[in-house]
Amino acid sequence: MKKKPLILAAALSITLTGCALDQQTDGGKNNSEATNDTNGSSQQTSQDSTSQSSKDEEKNNTNDKDKNANGQESTEDGGDSEKNQNSSSQSIPDDKVIQVDNPESLQVVVNKKRTLPEGYTPPDLTVPDVPFYFDEFKPKKQMRKEAAHALEQLFAAAKEQGIDLVAASGYRSYERQKNVYQSNVNAYGEKEANKVSAKPGTSEHQTGLAMDLTSAQMSFKLEESFRQTDEGEWLANHAHEYGFVIRYPKGKEDVTGYSYEPWHVRYVGKEAAKQIYNNKGTLEEFFGFRPYKK
Ligand SMILES: [Zn+2]
Repeated sequence: MKKKPLILAAALSITLTGCALDQQTDGGKNNSEATNDTNGSSQQTSQDSTSQSSKDEEKNNTNDKDKNANGQESTEDGGDSEKNQNSSSQSIPDDKVIQVDNPESLQVVVNKKRTLPEGYTPPDLTVPDVPFYFDEFKPKKQMRKEAAHALEQLFAAAKEQGIDLVAASGYRSYERQKNVYQSNVNAYGEKEANKVSAKPGTSEHQTGLAMDLTSAQMSFKLEESFRQTDEGEWLANHAHEYGFVIRYPKGKEDVTGYSYEPWHVRYVGKEAAKQIYNNKGTLEEFFGFRPYKK
């Protein structure tokens, strides 16, 4: 596979975000490779390959966990402190990476410590009927069916209120991620590659349940300033009503492993979304999974 020197050069100078990979590899379309987030939390994925051991400390049973163990504090749009120290009292020390056993669940939790099975392709991918910043078909237009339908409702409600959201990037295949990651490894070695690209299986975009949203006002870029636009404001306040959460809230970098991404929404269903929103929480906290930490 060929390298993409220009893109990679840019990539090395920025902080990896959950969506960065996609932008970097988008070629052409200058949909901003620079998602300069709050910098912070250097996202080193842990070195070791997926160790099977604790494969199922997985209690992913959706329903009402109103527990929310910790970190009620950080507001997603609150102060600028990029690291909220009290994010978690139950951090788990080890670096184990486990493979999720419920990849098709609408509430699967995927992060750098919880990977999708190799080669996993979500079922029922479809293209939501919402505006994208490009016209032609690309795989990244897709989402799981239920998520796509919910996204259409979200867009319709936004539109009614004069909010013009634009979709940028949803599904990303395992293969695609693998190729990009490998080309980074070839070019820069594993250590550097881990800084700029997620290992295959660790991107939430591979679930088909995530979508990056932007707007014309943002020139269709994915940047933190999106939060200050009318679209970003609306999304932060209403996404949960349609079953979505802002997946990487501000102040939760230690929990999610990612910098603040006001543009990245993840479908989890209305009930879970509402609770996560009300608790100002994260998926990890909601399901009681250990935080990413470090
Ligand atoms: Zn994203």
